[in-house]
Amino acid sequence: MSNKVRVRFCPSPTGDPHVGMIRTALFNWAFAKHNHGTFVFRIEDTDAARDSEESYQALLDSMRWLGLNWDEGPEVGGEYGPYRQSERLDIYADIAKKLHEKGFAYHCYCSQDEVEERRKAQKEKGQTPGYDGHCRELSQDQIDKFISEDRKPVLRFRMPGKEIKFNDLVRGELSFAPEHIPDYVLVRGNGDPLYTLVNPADDALMHITHVLRGEDLLSSTPRQIALYEAFKQIGVGEGITPEFGHLPYVMGEGNKKLSKRDPESSLLMYRREGFLPEGLLNYLALLGWSFGDDIEFFSMQEMADNFEINRVSTNPARFDIKKCTAINADWIRKLSAQELADRMQAQLISSQILPTQPSQEQKDLLLAATPLVQERLEVLSQADGMLSFLFVEEKDFKVDHEDAEKSLTPENLPILQASLKVIDELSEFTTQVLHDELNKVLVQEMGLKPRIAFTVLRVAITGRRVSPPLFESMELLGREKVKSRIEKHLKK
Ligand code: GLU
Ligand code: ZN
Repeated sequence: MSNKVRVRFCPSPTGDPHVGMIRTALFNWAFAKHNHGTFVFRIEDTDAARDSEESYQALLDSMRWLGLNWDEGPEVGGEYGPYRQSERLDIYADIAKKLHEKGFAYHCYCSQDEVEERRKAQKEKGQTPGYDGHCRELSQDQIDKFISEDRKPVLRFRMPGKEIKFNDLVRGELSFAPEHIPDYVLVRGNGDPLYTLVNPADDALMHITHVLRGEDLLSSTPRQIALYEAFKQIGVGEGITPEFGHLPYVMGEGNKKLSKRDPESSLLMYRREGFLPEGLLNYLALLGWSFGDDIEFFSMQEMADNFEINRVSTNPARFDIKKCTAINADWIRKLSAQELADRMQAQLISSQILPTQPSQEQKDLLLAATPLVQERLEVLSQADGMLSFLFVEEKDFKVDHEDAEKSLTPENLPILQASLKVIDELSEFTTQVLHDELNKVLVQEMGLKPRIAFTVLRVAITGRRVSPPLFESMELLGREKVKSRIEKHLKK
């Protein structure tokens, strides 16, 4: 047996992927890379009522988009597959049977209501509420009676009744008293295996060595450690208990735990808005981990190179969308012009500003316009508003309604008339000449404030008060289009 590091990311495919989940995936990925280990991707889809194929596809798609590539898992395969738990039900049934036969688990016939009532009674007596072991040692007569009442038993794990200690990779030595870890259910009355069984069973069978997961799962760890001891006795896995590390909570607005329902937790939102995978992952890395030396801008590879687990904090991390956006903007500025143009092209295609197969001319225009927007973009979707004026067909060119009302007023028409005349007479249609000549006529001769004069022109030509630099934009658009847009307003 090699002692190669093997970690897993094992989400349940319910709803949209969310950033908390991706943070967990990223930390596992980085830990695997750092230790030259294996990153296993497993789908925990044993809850048919909640899991969906759509969500499964969205998970795979998101992981690919982010570049969080897995070494084993769906579509990739691997030695320990299948990697979708819904395809492993016979394995769990077999393990459940062995646990029962060897006495590590027992049939519990208590109904929900009965368990609940006894919990209440425990509370009233000031005891720690939890399953009281009622069905641990049933006689055959009692069992027969329950069966005659048509009760369907759950399979319940028999906890060893002793303190359980482990050394958490993040939080250090932890211990759980037996009264806090009562016997728990592994398999439902209808035969459905639960997370409590399938997750540790697969971790054992897939030879997982380290479990890095959210702090919300901390309470299941002592139970799983006890279950591993049973696995060793019945020959499930290789007899190793993984090491556990619990990642701190991610807090959202108002210092509440970031929830799946918070809009800023939806991964699809970031993708739609045009966050770069690099930017988003860079930000998520900071949620509970630090690079050191106050370095906050780094690539995934740099993260992996430096990913010491002891730099994971126990303090809750605060999710800050402003900071996330600022880091994304830094990443956009860092791209080469060609890289940014390529990414903007994908964005502009998806918002139908460019056709699915842009022409060479459109590509060249986009590349030429890239330096004009690179410093201003925080997310790629902002390119839509900034650049559509360059690509729109003349007949479809529209001016923002509010901006037109503010700037294209009757008293501003002389500005457009004068500009048209200058533009018509220019010997050369370049940024520098446009700047010099328009400035001379509008500002020096007509005495207009540059901000006012050029905003009017900007709205007429780009359709908005906020746009890339005016004279550069005019040069890119070309004399004919600039003229026709101004003329169109004069005619109105
Ligand atoms: N499927 C579980 C979840 O998504 C995995 C938890 C774990 O990492 O153990 O919460
Ligand atoms: Zn019971």
